[in-house]
Amino acid sequence: MSRFWTNKIANLDPYVPGEQPQDKQYIKLNTNESPYGPSPKAIVAMQEQVSDDLRLYPDPNCKQLKSALAKAYKLKTEQVFVGNGSDEVLALAFMGYFAGNAEANKPLAFADITYSFYKVYANLYGIEAKLIPLTQDFDIDVEDYQNLDVSGVVITNPNAPTGKALPLCDIETILQANLDKVVLVDEAYIDFGAQSAAALVNQYDNLLVVQTLSKSRALAGIRVGYALGHPDLIEGLERLKNSFNSYPIDRVALAGATASVEDTDYLGYLCEKTIKTREAASLTLQALGFSIIPSSTNFLFVTHPDYDAQTIYLALKEIGILVRYFGKKPRIDQYLRITIGTDEEMNALTNALTKICS
Ligand code: PMP
Repeated sequence: MSRFWTNKIANLDPYVPGEQPQDKQYIKLNTNESPYGPSPKAIVAMQEQVSDDLRLYPDPNCKQLKSALAKAYKLKTEQVFVGNGSDEVLALAFMGYFAGNAEANKPLAFADITYSFYKVYANLYGIEAKLIPLTQDFDIDVEDYQNLDVSGVVITNPNAPTGKALPLCDIETILQANLDKVVLVDEAYIDFGAQSAAALVNQYDNLLVVQTLSKSRALAGIRVGYALGHPDLIEGLERLKNSFNSYPIDRVALAGATASVEDTDYLGYLCEKTIKTREAASLTLQALGFSIIPSSTNFLFVTHPDYDAQTIYLALKEIGILVRYFGKKPRIDQYLRITIGTDEEMNALTNALTKICS
C-alpha cells in the first residue's frame, strides 16, 4: 500500500495465477499447459527471428498471423484480432464491449463457476457481474440465458474449471436470445473435443469467439491469443489496442504463432495424444474412487467422496506433483483440477494418489 495509490488501485482484486514454482522441479499439472513442445516448425521460425532484425519493431497489424488464422477458420483477415495471450484479448473485449457505454449500468452475465479472471476484469472496469448458476451437475442451462437484462454475455466453452462442453446448437440458442448484445465465447480449450462457434461468425454480428495458442498449440510461453468476429467488432478491438499498445506481440512470437497455426497436422497430433491420455487417466482415477466430470478439455475436474481436496492437493505437492486447488470457493471446494500431462506423468500421479487415498 502506498500513499500514492488511487482508490482504483486500492480496490482491485487481482487474479491469482496457478503456481509457477521456481524452487524445485514439480510434475506440473496445475495450469493446463501442454506437456509436449510446440510444433517443431514454430521453434525453427522463432529461432530464425533471433537476429539483428530484433532491433526493428514487429508488424503492428500482425498481418501474417491474421492471414494464417483467417485461413484456418475460413474467415477474412478483417474478422481476426490478435493479442498478447487470450487474457489480453478478453481484457480489451471487456473494456470495449461490456463497460463504458449506455448499457454500462447493466450487469454482465456469466456462470457462477467459470474462469475467475472474468470477475477480476469486471471489477477493474466497474462492471457489475450477474452470476448465472450452473446446474447441480455443473451444466449451463440455456434457458437461463433467455430474456436477460444485461450488457453482454460471456460463455466459456468448454467451461473451466469443470471441463464440460456445450453443443454448438446451444451456443446458437444463446446467441439468438441475445442478438442486441455481444456474446463472447471463450474457447481456450475448444480443440480438445468441442465444437467451435467460429463456424457461426459469418451469421452473428454479436458473436466474439476468443481462442488461445497456450493450450492445444503448446505455446503458453509466447503469449498469443485471438478473437474471431464481425469486422466491425474486430475494428473496435483494434481501436482499443491501438490506444493502449501498438506492439503487444513481439517478432519472435509472431513468427512462432504463424508457423504453429499453419501446422494443423501437429495440432491434431497433440490433441489426439492428450485426449487419449485423458480418457485413460479418467478410468484410472475412477478406479481409485474419484468422481470425474466428463471432460472436453486438457484437464480433469475431480472430487473424492472420502478424501478432502485440500489434503490431497497438499500431499501431492509434498511428493512433487502440483495440481490446482481453488481454495474454499462455494460449490468447488472439494474439487481438484488436474491438467493432462504425459502418460508417465499421469502414472506418477495415479501412483501417488493410490498411496494418499488408502
Ligand atoms: N480463458 C480460459 C478459460 C483460461 O483457462 C485461460 C488460461 N488461464 C485463458 C482464457 C487465458 O489463456 P492465455 O492468456 O494463456 O491465452
